[in-house]
Amino acid sequence: MVYGYDEDFLSYLKIKFAINSEQFPLVSREKHRRDSIIKVGKVQFGGGCNFPIIAGPCGLKSEKDSIQTAIELKGLGVDVFRGFIWKGRTNPSSFQGVGETGINWLRKVKEQTNLPIDTEILSENHLKLIKDIVDVIQIGARNMQNYELLKAVGSVKIPVILKNGPGAGIDELLCAAEYIARGGNKDIILCLRGTKSLAGSGSRFTLDMSGFAILKRLTHLPVIGDPTHPADHNAIIPSVAMGIAACGADGLLIEVYNKPEMALTDKKQLIDYSQFAKTMHFINGILATIGKKNG
Ligand code: PEP
Ligand code: MN
Repeated sequence: MVYGYDEDFLSYLKIKFAINSEQFPLVSREKHRRDSIIKVGKVQFGGGCNFPIIAGPCGLKSEKDSIQTAIELKGLGVDVFRGFIWKGRTNPSSFQGVGETGINWLRKVKEQTNLPIDTEILSENHLKLIKDIVDVIQIGARNMQNYELLKAVGSVKIPVILKNGPGAGIDELLCAAEYIARGGNKDIILCLRGTKSLAGSGSRFTLDMSGFAILKRLTHLPVIGDPTHPADHNAIIPSVAMGIAACGADGLLIEVYNKPEMALTDKKQLIDYSQFAKTMHFINGILATIGKKNG
């Protein structure tokens, strides 16, 4: 499933929603019609044929647990390990992540599993601390418009996952990506993770499934989806993950942990290994139908 340049649809977006692609020329599909392929270690994002999986717990707990979890997730087909040591929390009293202590754990996970590592940074100082270790840097939803942080990640040569802000429009997400690209770093992967909605739907954020097909026409960058944060409860997450695959996204970012009840954060948002394996079974069927494969 490959989304290409579509002049008619782009002019519809310009007229109907006043989306001005001149604000984001470096990431716009108008100037760069072919899909960009972004490499995270040896894993490829974009191009329309593959669907890599980034997975791991919400936050890391200990060195031993991180290594064990990464080994098990690799066995379940995960391509990139999500190892978060800093957690930006809504409630200032909530656990904020293990912090700098976890940097060495990430190094060890990488040595022992050979999996590329994804971690979220909340500041320029975090970037300095992890820039020689991680394979992809995540900019979380709440930092999508932290322009100084965007410029900082724009100045390094490490791929970046940029999530949409909970109240941001699709053009604002692309302008945020443009900030990174203008610093010289073109290795950007966009991630849709839902927005606040006026309607009480029973989910924490609303993930607009049409967003994948729209964004893929506006930009040449890969677009992945996060089912964990919009769905918010493990009863709903597998269905949203399948929807993301079916909509033609370029990959999945999902929270998975062996014993969700023992996690330090977001216990209800974590799916366990058996739920993950079942979800991947269905996703692989969907991918085969649309001419893609996992990895
Ligand atoms: C996360 O991926 O752990 C996270 C906090 O997501 P978001 O920035 O989308 O809320
Ligand atoms: Mn989480």
